[in-house]
Amino acid sequence: MKFNSKLPNVSTTIFTVMSQLANEHGAINLSQGFPNFDTSENLKKLVNHYITSGKNQYAPMPGVLALREQLSSKIETLYGLQVDPNSEITITAGATQALYTAISAFVKPDDEVVLIEPAYDSYRPSIKVNGGIPKAYELSGPDYKIDWNQLRKLVSVRTRMIIINTPHNPIGKILSEEDMKSLDRLTEGTDILVLSDEVYEHLVYDGLQHQSVLRFPNLWKRSMAVFSFGKTLHATGWKLGYIVAPDYIMAEFRKVHQFNVFSVNTPMQYAIADFLVDPNEYLSLPSFFQKKRDFFLEAMKGSSLKPISSEGTYFQLFDYSAISSEKDTEFTKRMTTEFGVAAIPVSVFFSNNNDNQVVRLCFAKTEDTLSKAGELLQKI
Ligand code: PMP
Ligand code: GLN
Repeated sequence: MKFNSKLPNVSTTIFTVMSQLANEHGAINLSQGFPNFDTSENLKKLVNHYITSGKNQYAPMPGVLALREQLSSKIETLYGLQVDPNSEITITAGATQALYTAISAFVKPDDEVVLIEPAYDSYRPSIKVNGGIPKAYELSGPDYKIDWNQLRKLVSVRTRMIIINTPHNPIGKILSEEDMKSLDRLTEGTDILVLSDEVYEHLVYDGLQHQSVLRFPNLWKRSMAVFSFGKTLHATGWKLGYIVAPDYIMAEFRKVHQFNVFSVNTPMQYAIADFLVDPNEYLSLPSFFQKKRDFFLEAMKGSSLKPISSEGTYFQLFDYSAISSEKDTEFTKRMTTEFGVAAIPVSVFFSNNNDNQVVRLCFAKTEDTLSKAGELLQKI
């Protein structure tokens, strides 16, 4: 049979490729971002409780109301915004589905979407499969700051959406209040939607504050903010998340959502609603992960890999340009096969495969794993 692929240049994601390579070579896997420790026992008990007590049929299309109410109150406490749990929050099958559905609900053929590269790998294919045209703004290290005057040049009458990601995967930087104000000014009075990927909202370090679009009431009127329980609950395999948007935007989102997934896992939604009643669970995440970041940096002291400061996320970048001129894709393969630690090459997050000889390592791991990885990487 003949057909034209809608995504001719897409192959298996780097996360799958590197995790597989790590498994084949028995390497420590600091490539794909996931914790190697378990989610809370209390949360597992709650899930068991709701499964055995019979919460096993379809959830309402936008999600279990108790969970949406809990999230609404969390958002008000953290960001000072009142969102209607009925019409402005939808529970999704992870952030990936929320992002895909948001893009497909609004991006029509030949609409332009501005994204900031390096960019999380799902954005570009989600735009392209819907006929949209990605317009990439390129960040450069080691600061990775956005020059809003330059970014503005990518905006045209065809711009339908701007996608931002803070804290940023893969670079580990966060957007500042000034950045958000620049974004507000850039989009004010236009029909440009902002899709804000905030899956690492609680993984922000050194006393910095997460600048959610939900903190900026004007900006929020044209925004969708996406979150993931995978990161907040150490449960990436549950593939549960949510999206928050003003009702007139959410109504459009739900038109697609109800036909691409309808509703998501019921007992887990009830369990998470109960679990979130105690805010300490998520308020302790910055110090929990900052400790891991600092432990890992200590374990890497003396290695030839040069750290680039991480302000948030699961990830720490390292520059290896002082010791090798290899492409980052080759270097990460060799790290895995010869040195026993798998990493992600940052060039794969650029559409032109811009290679700055920087690799991404995930520190959402036990101290034992981090110190073993540090020992192995001293040998590079
Ligand atoms: N956005 C970013 C920036 C991510 O890092 C990830 C996954 N790590 C996702 C979206 C997808 O999240 P989920 O697993 O909830 O689909
Ligand atoms: N988001 C995770 C990462 O950046 C991986 C998710 C996936 O494997 N698709 O490592």
